[in-house]
Amino acid sequence: MSKKRVVLTFPKETVEQPITYHLIKDYDLMVNILSAKVNPNEEGRLVVEISGQKQRLNSGMDYLKGLGVAIQPLAQDVRWDEQRCTHCTACLPICPSHALSVNRAEMRVSFDSEYCIVCGLCLKACPYQAVEILF
Ligand code: SF4
Ligand code: SF4
Repeated sequence: MSKKRVVLTFPKETVEQPITYHLIKDYDLMVNILSAKVNPNEEGRLVVEISGQKQRLNSGMDYLKGLGVAIQPLAQDVRWDEQRCTHCTACLPICPSHALSVNRAEMRVSFDSEYCIVCGLCLKACPYQAVEILF
């Protein structure tokens, strides 16, 4: 079983196509949608975790690329700037996935991109713009 957490950007002409349905039905993949921004006649964006047999997962990715869907690894989409972070902890209660956490002994905040679901909530919470989401 292989797993990928990726950001999918759909050309506007594809946003109304049942693409996730095809990934599930035709490629036998599990698709967990972590966040979505889809509007008719606009470019769409899904943050997903896709898992399944490695060969099928690769075939599913090829299917997406064939439709013109851009695929980016999730970790490249969120940037936490340690130099800007004052370790104020304002973002901690906001972060639903505990990607931002604090070492209580040292009162130092850290970011683990593996857990980040790119919800964007910390951007509003952070007074120092220490987190940036790259679209
Ligand atoms: S975008 Fe921010 S609040 Fe959302 S999961 Fe990632 S670190 Fe946490
Ligand atoms: S709110 Fe911003 S400055 Fe404060 S701990 Fe979180 S990332 Fe760092």
